Amino acid sequence: MSNQEKLNIMRHSAAHVMAAAVLKLFPDAKFGIGPTIEDGFYYDFELPRNLSPEDLPKIEQAMSEIVKNKEKFAGQELGIDQAVKLFKDLKQDYKVELLNDLKQKGTTEVKEEGQELFEKPDKVSIYKLGDFVDLCRGPHLRHAGEVKVFKLTSIAGAYWRGDEKNPMLQRIYGTAWENQKELDAYLKNREEATKRDHRKLGKELEIFMFNENIGKGLPLLLPNGRVLREEILKLETEIENRVGYERVWTPHIAKSDLYKLTGHWEHYRECMFSPFGVDDETYVLRPMTCPHHYMIYKNKSRSWRDLPLRIAEDGTCYRYEKSGELGGLARVRCLTIDDAHIFVTPDQVKDEYRLLIKMVQQMFEAFKLKDYYVSLSTHDPKDKKKYIADEATWNKAEKSLEEILKENKIKYELCPGEAAFYGPKLDFIVHDVLGREWQMSTLQIDFFMAERLGLTYVDKKGNPAHPIIVHRGFTGSLERTIAMLIEHFAGAFPVWLSPTQIKIISVGADHIEHCRELAREFMDIGARVQVDDMNETVGNKIRKAEKERVPYMLVIGDKEIGGKELSIRERGVKKTYKIKKQEFIDKILKQIKERS
Ligand SMILES: [Zn+2]
Ligand SMILES: [Zn+2]
Repeated sequence: MSNQEKLNIMRHSAAHVMAAAVLKLFPDAKFGIGPTIEDGFYYDFELPRNLSPEDLPKIEQAMSEIVKNKEKFAGQELGIDQAVKLFKDLKQDYKVELLNDLKQKGTTEVKEEGQELFEKPDKVSIYKLGDFVDLCRGPHLRHAGEVKVFKLTSIAGAYWRGDEKNPMLQRIYGTAWENQKELDAYLKNREEATKRDHRKLGKELEIFMFNENIGKGLPLLLPNGRVLREEILKLETEIENRVGYERVWTPHIAKSDLYKLTGHWEHYRECMFSPFGVDDETYVLRPMTCPHHYMIYKNKSRSWRDLPLRIAEDGTCYRYEKSGELGGLARVRCLTIDDAHIFVTPDQVKDEYRLLIKMVQQMFEAFKLKDYYVSLSTHDPKDKKKYIADEATWNKAEKSLEEILKENKIKYELCPGEAAFYGPKLDFIVHDVLGREWQMSTLQIDFFMAERLGLTYVDKKGNPAHPIIVHRGFTGSLERTIAMLIEHFAGAFPVWLSPTQIKIISVGADHIEHCRELAREFMDIGARVQVDDMNETVGNKIRKAEKERVPYMLVIGDKEIGGKELSIRERGVKKTYKIKKQEFIDKILKQIKERS
């Protein structure tokens, strides 16, 4: 058993201990579900009153008693009807609902109708811990005394089964670890993550906003956010230009017929917004740019000499996400994908992937992302309905992607059943400075769409052939990338990304004109500069600029106007130093150009 599996068992057991403790404090509590999650666990409760943070130490105290008494996890198998009766007698309505689902559908998962893949059990297992009885498969520790160290971390509201039509339950989050040192390290990391939360920093640094009148999941980039977006795109365009990408622009809507042609209508509709009528035709907001790019490919006849043909666009798309799943910029309903569609011949696939991987690595380097791995999503041979094309084609595609990863010595893991309906894919998952995972670049192979849509090229022998299409999301989503960069850098972006690179601070009213002249000079060389000419103390202005995470602060007083040197203060450094103007210009230009 791996360490992670052992930890999960302890955390799962700790969730039972927490539920038993809650039952002691609230004998009328009703219980939802209590799974383990990354780094911890939670349990959902219906309670006679709202919990406050002051309740957590009391619940922890009750948990400590149970741990001290080494209460046993007593498992028992029951017939499903017997279990229904037991939980009815205990007035545990949510558990009864789960049991009835198990009985009727064979699963407690909320799934679409018509999926009858599960065997319906006639027996279930229950576990007792003191007076607390839970419907649970296990496994658990032998007794509560084996829960080493734990801590309850927060309270939140959560709809029963994630559905806003259902009652709102109270969720308590907790964590459990092998020893105090690990718990302390985790809590410290968590505190740091809270400070870096892009929703909090994004507001403070005026990077983006949401507005109720505009709608959920529809972010507005403020001027500082727009700079980040432009800089990311500039970096990507530079990398693309070295290789030979062709950039296009296409509309955000299209006729729904287009998506019927591609098969998205059948396979992807739940992620699309409702169609709307224009004249007497039906249109949709596009959920992706691929179909538009296919039409560009089809616009003229192509020969093997034209391939690889690389069409790129930062394409804004619209996807339906459940409101409960939206979170800042990380999950939105309007997103811009730095997309490309690369049309290649079968013998160009490997070289193109080599190139793509190199491009992704260049981008990661600019963002100072050193730690990443790839998840290789493959098909599920048992699911016949979901996928286009046959087993042999799938196997061939998956094998070649794996070979390329091995050849490039990239850490990867296989994810069977995770592939899209048209082909296997590589997803780059990066770890930020706090070790948290962010999904970034996607390189998806597509052996099928060209054939489906009749996209062809004339091969060397003069015969028509279908190109293979590679879908590339460079970062995947610009919005998520901005969120990641805010948290990764804690808002203190490198100079090339900083919305304001230089803040010029006037000492007194007499110096303002000189500050503005200097600002114009810096603007001329392409730097982003602001003058703070407010009637405040220099100390105050420096504190403000530090809070805005501006990398360079220039203080201009009598000495600077008279002399030949500038007084510079760097972000996070208390000391001011003197430097000749030209030297400073050379320095900042080099940092911007090299993204250092
Ligand atoms: Zn359990
Ligand atoms: Zn695509």
